[in-house]
Formats: sequence, structure tokens, C-alpha cells
Amino acid sequence: MSNLAYRRVLLKLSGEALMGDEDYGIDPKVLNRLAREVIEARDAGAEVALVIGGGNIFRGAGLAAGGMDRVTGDQMGMLATVINALAMQDALEKLGAKCRVMSAIKINDVCEDYIRRRAVRHLEKGRICIFAAGVGSPFFTTDSGAALRAIEVGADLLLKATKVDGVYDKDPKKHADAVKLDTLTYDEVIARNLQVMDTAAFALCRDASLSLRVFDMAQPGVLLKILRGEPIGTLVRA
Ligand code: UDP
Repeated sequence: MSNLAYRRVLLKLSGEALMGDEDYGIDPKVLNRLAREVIEARDAGAEVALVIGGGNIFRGAGLAAGGMDRVTGDQMGMLATVINALAMQDALEKLGAKCRVMSAIKINDVCEDYIRRRAVRHLEKGRICIFAAGVGSPFFTTDSGAALRAIEVGADLLLKATKVDGVYDKDPKKHADAVKLDTLTYDEVIARNLQVMDTAAFALCRDASLSLRVFDMAQPGVLLKILRGEPIGTLVRA
């Protein structure tokens, strides 16, 4: 038996997390490091699912700002998440892990369709599942996809890796006196008007009483530390 505080988790990585120091696309070194972290967590006994954004390639809102039809832009964004998922699958498999990409939009020549029962079975068998294409509809984000899938597969915790090491009482980039908050309830996040994730994703997590931990993935070994129960970043709980 593992000595972990969580049995099954879903880790949300933004597409930008794959870029490293580049301003577009995927840095193989960064991808490899993230894959190692995920495998370390899985080898310690956790069942790990991943959702990866697409912002390193396309975001529908950005494309729409440039004049493109928003739905088409969002579809391109969803395809970008599939590209990132395939890249991560490759990195995980090169390191010897078993992995399945499951997409919310049908693209089953390149990966499996998302089917909840099958996803749960993969996780039970120790395979790392990467849920691609968000919720499969435009006007959503991969934060919503991460929240939805975490709830569907019965994850104990949703992990949101960000560039900031937790939730602050105000934007730490703009205010030098911003204070990091260690634990919050969903109601406190609303009352204090804090930005944790987008509104749809936030509502899903709150209504399902799914705990969320916001943290910075830059520090090596951080994922396993969190799974062992270390209070890194900010915990948002029901
Ligand atoms: N997207 C979408 N529906 C979803 C998830 C994503 O339309 O359920 C599109 C949307 O255009 C979004 C893009 O895919 O901007 C990439 O996802 P996201 O912005 O969440 O990526 P991240 O910011 O995490 O890299």
C-alpha cells in the first residue's frame, strides 16, 4: 500500500507550462521533466490523470480577437490540446510509463474517445490518462475540462499547476505586499473576489465539493510532496 494522502488525482497543466523559455510550442526538455514528475507520482502509488491546456499553440479567444470566428478558434484550441496530449503521451511512454490519451472530440485515429468507464479502468490499471480537448465544446476552457473529468473519474484532488506558487489576497505581480493564502473555502474565494480558475470550472468544483490545490510546478519533486500531504501552494476546499 502507498503512504500517499491521495489515491487518485487530476493534474491540470497549462499549455504554456510546456513552452519553457520559448514563446510558442513545446520545449522537449520541459516536457520530459514534467513527464518524470508525473511518473514519480504514479510510481509512488497514485492514479494520475492529466489535462493539458493549449495556450502554447492556440486559444480561441485570441484567434477571435484577430478576427476569426470564435467557434472555429475554440475548435483550433481544442485541437491544440490534443497535440499537447500526444506530445506528453510520447514523453511518458519514452520513459516507460503506460499512457492513454482520451479526447472529448472524436479524433479516434490518433487517440481514444473519452469514455468514463474506460478512463477509470485505465487509471485502476496504473495507466496515466491524458484527457484532451477540454469538455469538447467551444466557449469553455481546459480548466473546466479538468474540473469535469476530475469529478467524473472520482479524483480526490484537482491539482492546478500555475506560474504563481498559490492564491494571493491580491495580484502578487502588481502588489509587493500581496499575502499568500494557505487554505481557503470556495465561499471565501467568492467573498474575497479572488481569481482561482474560470467561473465555470470554479462552479463545478464547488458544487461537487472537489478540493483544489493551486501550486507552482517549477520546483522538482513538488507533485510527489503534495501527494504525500505536504501543504504546498494553496488548498481550496468545500
Ligand atoms: N477550448 C474549448 N473548449 C474546451 C477547452 C478548450 O473551446 O472545453 C479551447 C479554447 O479556445 C481554449 C483553448 O482550447 O482557449 C486552449 O485551452 P486553454 O485556454 O484552457 O489552455 P491553457 O490556457 O490552459 O493553456
